[in-house]
Amino acid sequence: MEERKGDWSEVERALSDEELKEQTSRCMNCGQPFCHAYGCPLGNLVPDQNRAVAQGNWKLAYELLSSNSDFPEFTSRICPALCEASCVHQLDEESVMIRQSEKRIIETAFENGWVVPRPPDRENGKSVAVIGAGPAGLSAAVTLRRKGWAVTVYERRANIGGLLRYGIPCFKLDKALIDRRRAILEAEGITFVTGCEVGKDVSAEWLKARHDGIVVAIGTPAARDLKIPGRELAGIHLALELLEGQNRFLTGEIDAPPINAKGKDVLVIGGGDTGSDCVGTAIRHGAKSVTQIEIMPRPPDDRSVSTPWPLWPYMLRTSSSHKEGCERRWNLNSLRFVGDDAVAGVEVETVEWELSPEGKTLKFHAVPDTKETIKADLVFLAMGFTGVPADNPIVAQLGLAQTPRTALIPDPAHGVYCVGDCASGASLVVRALASGKNIPLE
Ligand SMILES: Cc1cc2nc3c(=O)[nH]c(=O)nc-3n(C[C@H](O)[C@H](O)[C@H](O)COP(=O)(O)OP(=O)(O)OC[C@H]3O[C@@H](n4cnc5c(N)ncnc54)[C@H](O)[C@@H]3O)c2cc1C
Repeated sequence: MEERKGDWSEVERALSDEELKEQTSRCMNCGQPFCHAYGCPLGNLVPDQNRAVAQGNWKLAYELLSSNSDFPEFTSRICPALCEASCVHQLDEESVMIRQSEKRIIETAFENGWVVPRPPDRENGKSVAVIGAGPAGLSAAVTLRRKGWAVTVYERRANIGGLLRYGIPCFKLDKALIDRRRAILEAEGITFVTGCEVGKDVSAEWLKARHDGIVVAIGTPAARDLKIPGRELAGIHLALELLEGQNRFLTGEIDAPPINAKGKDVLVIGGGDTGSDCVGTAIRHGAKSVTQIEIMPRPPDDRSVSTPWPLWPYMLRTSSSHKEGCERRWNLNSLRFVGDDAVAGVEVETVEWELSPEGKTLKFHAVPDTKETIKADLVFLAMGFTGVPADNPIVAQLGLAQTPRTALIPDPAHGVYCVGDCASGASLVVRALASGKNIPLE
C-alpha cells in the first residue's frame, strides 16, 4: 500500500489465469443472462465472450467483444460494471468478474496484433463534424467512419479523450491507452483537429457550411460550485482543477502540477467518484490528511431495498483511493469557509434526512448544536456537474433547445445530433460510448 501511494500507474491487480478461468466458467452456470441485454449499455455479449475465454479461445472472445465495443480498453478499466450489478450470480453469491475478463480479452488482442484499423469498405461521399473528442465523440466518430462518412473531430483541448484524459486519474486509466487507440482511429481515416474550440476559434455556422452533419459531444463543462461565505478564499478549487492539472503534468503537457497537496490538510466536499479521484491524487501528492464529506446519509453496506436486483445498487462504494487512507463522513452540510486570505477550515453542521418508505432521501433538517469546523488548508469541490450553460456559444450558434436541466436537445431536421453527457447529463463512459454508437445517422 505504501508503495502504491507514491505510484501514479494503474493500481488494479490483474487476475491470474486460474482466477480468470474460474470466473469465466462461473458465467456458464447462468440460465438467463441479464448482464448483456439489461446491464451493459453497449449490449456486450458477455456469456459468449466468457465461454470463449473459459475455453481458451481468445481470438473468438475478441471478435465477440469487438462486435459491440469499440473501446474495451477504456471500459474494462474504469466502468463501474453495470453488467456485474445485474449478474444473475448476485442473487445468491458474488457476481462474475466480467470487467476483468474484458480487460484480458482486449489486452490479449493488442498483444497478438488482432486490433487493426477497420476502414470502411466504401466512402459515402458525405462529411460530418464531431465537436468534442471525449468518449461520446470518439464513439460517434468511429461509428460514422465505418458507415463511410468522412469524419473530422474538433477538440478544444491539446489532445483527445475528454474526461478519459483530463478528468480520470492516471492511476485508474493510463493515458498511453488513448494514444494507442488514436493511432488506430487515424489509420481508419478519422481526422482530429485539436486546440480548436468550436464557438470561439471557428463558429458552428462555419462547420455547418463545410459538413453535411454535426455531432455535438461537448460533455457537461460546468461543475457545480458551492457559493457559501468565504468561497473567495485562496485554496478552494473545483475538483477538475486538481485532476486536469495533474493529468496534464503527468502526460508532459505542463511542467508542474498547478496544485500540490503535499503536507496539507485536504478536505474534499462531495462523496462521489470525482471526490474519490481527488482523494487518491491528494494522497499521492503526500497530503498530511485527507477527509471527504458528503451531505447525504451513509449508504448501506449492501444493496439497498430501494434498488433490488437487477437494478444498479444504491450502496456504499469504497474505492482503492479510500483504502489508501481517508476519513469519510456523511450527513454534513457545509455552512461557510473560514480563514483570512487563505482557507483554514470549513464550518459544517450535521443534518438528518427524512426518508421515504423505500429508503429514498426526501429532505433534510439541521441537528441543533452540531456546528463544528473541519480544519483544511486545501479544499476540493466535487459536487457534480450542471449540464451545458445556456451561454455556451454552441447552443446559440446551432440554435439548440435545452431541457430544464440544460441537456442539449438534438435537431436532426437541421442535421445536428447531440451525444454523451451533453445530451443526457453527467453520466458514465460506457453510456457516452453507447450514445455515440447509437447515433441515428446513416
Ligand atoms: C473526475 C471524473 C472521473 C470520472 N470517472 C469515471 C469512471 O471512473 N468511470 C466512468 O464510467 N465514468 C467516469 N466519469 C464520467 C465520464 O468521464 C463521463 O461521463 C464521460 O467522459 C462523458 O463523455 P462525453 O464524451 O460526453 O464528455 P467529455 O468526456 O466531457 O468530453 C467532451 C469533450 O468535448 C470537448 N469540448 C467541449 N466544448 C468544446 C468546444 N466548444 N469545441 C471543441 N471541443 C469541445 C471537451 O474538451 C472534451 O474533450 C468521471 C467523470 C469525472 C469528472
